[in-house]
Amino acid sequence: MNLHLKSIKELRGLLDGADLTAQELTQYYLDRIQKLDPIIHAYITVNEKAMEQAEAAQKMIEAGAAGPLTGIVLGLKDNICTKGLRTTCASKMLEDFIPAYDATVAEKLEEAGAIFIGKLNMDEFAMGASTETSFFGATRNPYDPERVPGGSSGGSAAAVAAGLCVAALGSDTGGSIRQPAAFCGVTGIKPTYGRVSRYGLVAFASSLDQIGPIAKSARDCAYLLDAISGQDPKDMTSRPSEAVVPMLGESVEGTVIGVPKECFGEGLDPEVRAAVEKAIEKYEEMGCVIREVFMPSLKYAVPAYYLISSAEASSNLARYDGVRYGYRSKEGKNFEEQVIATRNEGFGNEVKRRILLGTYALSGAQFDAYYKKADLLRRRIKKEYEEIFRICDCMITPTAPEAAFKFGEKGGDPTELYLADLYTAAVNIAGLPAVSTTCGYTKEWLPIGMSIVGKPFAEGEILNLADAFEKKFNYILNDFCL
Ligand code: GLN
Repeated sequence: MNLHLKSIKELRGLLDGADLTAQELTQYYLDRIQKLDPIIHAYITVNEKAMEQAEAAQKMIEAGAAGPLTGIVLGLKDNICTKGLRTTCASKMLEDFIPAYDATVAEKLEEAGAIFIGKLNMDEFAMGASTETSFFGATRNPYDPERVPGGSSGGSAAAVAAGLCVAALGSDTGGSIRQPAAFCGVTGIKPTYGRVSRYGLVAFASSLDQIGPIAKSARDCAYLLDAISGQDPKDMTSRPSEAVVPMLGESVEGTVIGVPKECFGEGLDPEVRAAVEKAIEKYEEMGCVIREVFMPSLKYAVPAYYLISSAEASSNLARYDGVRYGYRSKEGKNFEEQVIATRNEGFGNEVKRRILLGTYALSGAQFDAYYKKADLLRRRIKKEYEEIFRICDCMITPTAPEAAFKFGEKGGDPTELYLADLYTAAVNIAGLPAVSTTCGYTKEWLPIGMSIVGKPFAEGEILNLADAFEKKFNYILNDFCL
C-alpha cells in the first residue's frame, strides 16, 4: 500500500475504519526514512518516542476520541521547540539543546493526537533559501538530488515531497515556507501574522516570523492550520481566527484576482512565467475575474526585508552567549573573550553576516539612514497592498523567480540568493497570508509554484482557491523517482 501518497482524509478513513493502526503508519514512515533519508537528508533528528505517541493515538482512535490529526505522522522544522526532543535550529550553537518546554503549536498538535516522527533540516536559524547553510549538511531535492530543496524550510518540503511524513510544519519570515514548497512540488501556507502563536519558535525576526504547514495539498494544509491556529496568552501578537476547513469546496466564481505587473517583469524565468500565466487563465475559466494591478514598491521589498529581518535577528540572537544555554567555547581567558569565541565558533557565516548587517543598521549613526528608511518602506508596501485589496479579493504571483537550482550555483555573491525572496518577502512585510501550490513543471520536470496572497485572515479563501486548482488540474504529487 502506497500510504505516503494518501491524503490526511484518506488516512483518517483507514485509521478510523480499523484498516490501519497508528503504530503501523508510524512504522511505515520510519522504514521509509531509514531507506530514503540517507539520500534526501531531510531529518536532523528522528524521534525515538514516535512509537509511544502512536500507541497513545491508537488508544484515542479506539476510544472514539479521534480528531482530524489523531495518528497522523508529522515532521517539525527544527526551530520549533519540542519538550525533551533536541531542537537545533540547524546550528552548532544549539547542537545539543533539548528544550524543557513545547512550542504552543507542538502542544496543540500533541493534544490532537498527532505523531512527531522527527525534526526537519533547515538553513541555520532559518536564514537562507536553499538549506545549504545547515550545520548538519544540506537537504536534497527529491525531484533531482543535485538540486536544492529551497529554504529555509527545505527539510520540511523535501520530507513531504519524498513521502517521509504525511505533512510538516515550517516557518516563514521572508518566504521560507512557500519557496521550498514550490521547489519540491508541494503546498505550503504562510499564515497572517498573529494567526499562529510564535511561542516556542526560535526567533529570527519577530515581527515577520510565522509558523505554517507544508503538505501534499491545500486541504491537508487546512487540517494542520486549523489545529495550530488560535490566540495564545503566551504570544501577545496572536489573534483568534475562524476555521478554514469548512470553507473548502466553495465556488470560486466571481473572485477578483489581482495580477501585479511588477511580478512578471525582469528576473522571472520564462518557463515560470508561462506556467503561472497559464494557471491564471485556468482561474478565469473557473469564473474568476482577473485584474492587472500595480505594486511600484515591490522592488524595495528585498532590501527592506533584509534590513528589518537582520536588525531584529541581531537583537534576537544576542542571547547565544554560551552562558545560559547552547554551545560554549573552551577558549578565552575572561568572560568577554569566551563570549566572543563562543559566537565565533557557534554561528555559521550567513548568521554572522546578518548579525553584522543588523547591528550596523541599528547603530546610532546609521539608524536613520537604514532602519528608519526600511521602516518607511514597510508602511508604503503595506499601503500598496491595502489599495489592491480594495479592488481585488486576492493576488496571484510566481512563488519564486525560478525553479530549483543546483547546489553551489549561487555560492558567490550572497545577494544572488536573497533575490529568491523577490515575490515572497513583501507578503511578510505586510503580515498577509499566502499559499504556494504547484502550477506546472519545467522541461526538466522540476515543479513550478504560484502564490495566492490574501487579505488579513483570509486563509480560508486562498486555501479554497488553491484547493479548487489542485482538484481540477490534479497537480498533486505523483510517485516520481522515489
Ligand atoms: N530567504 C529568506 C532569508 O534568507 C527567508 C528566510 C525565512 O523566511 N526564514 O532570510
